[in-house]
Amino acid sequence: MTSQARINVQTRRVKVAIVGGGFGGLCMAIKLREAGIDDFLLLEKGDDVGGTWNHNSYPGAACDVQSHMYSFSFEGNPDWSHRYSGQQEIHSYINGVTEKHGIRQFTRFNAEVTGAHFDDKAALWTLDLADGSQVICQHWVLASGPLHVPSFPNFKGIDKFQGKIIHSAQWDHGYDMAGKKVVSIGTGASAIQYVPHVAKEAEHLTVVQRTPPWIIPRDERAYSGLSKWMFRRFPALRKLHRLRLYLSNEARVVPIFKPRLAKLAEPALKAFIRYQVKDKETARKLIPSYTLGCKRILISNNYYPTFNRDNVSLVTEGVKEIRENSIVFSDGTEQQADCLVLGTGFIVDPRIYMKDFEITGLPGHRLQDDWKDAAEAYLGTTVSGYPNMFQLVGPNTGLGHNSIIFMIESQVRYVIDAISKLDQRGDAWLDVKQDVQNRYNDKLQEELKGTVWQNGGCMSWYQQADGRNTALWPHATFQFMARTWRVNMKDYDWQPAVVPATAKASLGR
Ligand code: NAP
Repeated sequence: MTSQARINVQTRRVKVAIVGGGFGGLCMAIKLREAGIDDFLLLEKGDDVGGTWNHNSYPGAACDVQSHMYSFSFEGNPDWSHRYSGQQEIHSYINGVTEKHGIRQFTRFNAEVTGAHFDDKAALWTLDLADGSQVICQHWVLASGPLHVPSFPNFKGIDKFQGKIIHSAQWDHGYDMAGKKVVSIGTGASAIQYVPHVAKEAEHLTVVQRTPPWIIPRDERAYSGLSKWMFRRFPALRKLHRLRLYLSNEARVVPIFKPRLAKLAEPALKAFIRYQVKDKETARKLIPSYTLGCKRILISNNYYPTFNRDNVSLVTEGVKEIRENSIVFSDGTEQQADCLVLGTGFIVDPRIYMKDFEITGLPGHRLQDDWKDAAEAYLGTTVSGYPNMFQLVGPNTGLGHNSIIFMIESQVRYVIDAISKLDQRGDAWLDVKQDVQNRYNDKLQEELKGTVWQNGGCMSWYQQADGRNTALWPHATFQFMARTWRVNMKDYDWQPAVVPATAKASLGR
């Protein structure tokens, strides 16, 4: 069935569809409007904009990138209350930007995309939505982010558990933890933020740690009224402050390539743990054995002191089994539990990375199959065989040292340039050449070999089971900006007109 034949009253046709209303989707929408393209629709699965910052509302949720960096370069906010902002403040910033740029009128909420299919005869994409409607578009931008499908480990017996189960990304604020025995599994970026808060509520909290994270002190400060006034009155000062933060973050790219440099900081951090945690045995268990930076470096001032509380204990045994009202650990000990909190992160299986729905491109291309072994794109943005499909925060664009919003803005500029060039040429679609994509990824993997992520002696969500890192960008962010500044015409096949699939041979496939 062609796209045309499928059109019904529930079908909307636009030039560009954006999937996901977080920082990426919002930036895309704003820049499309600036480029004079108003014929677009933003599809958001949730009931509000914000993406991560809408869904992840667990107690203590905050960003570990400084607020003046973790915001759009073109929408500076002089009023950030603290150096690092909490979820609610970031969410209200996103809402403010959405209103200011009039993006809500282009947004359909509660619109979950369940499939995306390219019709090469019509040169159009069809996006299927959960409510049965469809959106037909020339281009679409996947901006749902790599970390949005919560991971629920399949612990033996978990289906028998009679208590409450809460995942960090689906917090139930109506559940009262007072007087409850809580077991929390995982010690990643999310867990170390909610653990100190849960500890204050619960009768007892057991923290189950598989691998300890490296945690550095959080340089937390409130901006004074005078600072905010200065930032408002003299925007150049705010921009200078942002530049200083950018450069200091950017300097952290150096130890990524020089793991020996990263190791130099470890003795001080070990001393910090021993200083903060009174019980020597607990402190010992909290000290990582892999190189600093191999997993994401976390920041916190209140995580370690939580283990000095009488109602908190640390378990480093694996989970053997979950029973009706308890958790059994690999050493045979059993812990009673009313509530199980899962800080176990997100599914990063390449088959569902960036999407948990089917995407089919040119004949023979199904993304779940093409990404069976590894998620690969060109500049993290385009994938060969999927014309006019763009991704934001796609493979190897994540960062361990600076703000992802910098990367998003670079990608959005690139997408706008691609659409503009296509329009100027009057072509139907552009599709990155397979050999260009292959060469790019081979080189990237080669460059990643020398990094702390590959040589630091750990496993993390950055890596696939075979150790291949398809999550992170292994260079300075300005190098990514330079690479994505303009679309290099030679990197792409440009389809001049809609032709039958059989004529694709002329494109050299
Ligand atoms: P995560 O970093 O993937 O951490 C998951 C934790 O769960 C790890 O400690 C992991 O242990 C543990 N775990 C997973 N499966 C387990 C199992 N079967 N048994 C025992 N332990 C298990 O997930 P996250 O904390 O949600 O963070 C994900 C990413 O989101 C971060 O890296 C960051 O990019 C982002 N984030 C950022 C912030 C911030 O800006 N402050 C806050 C939250 C999240 P192992 O380490 O042994 O695998």
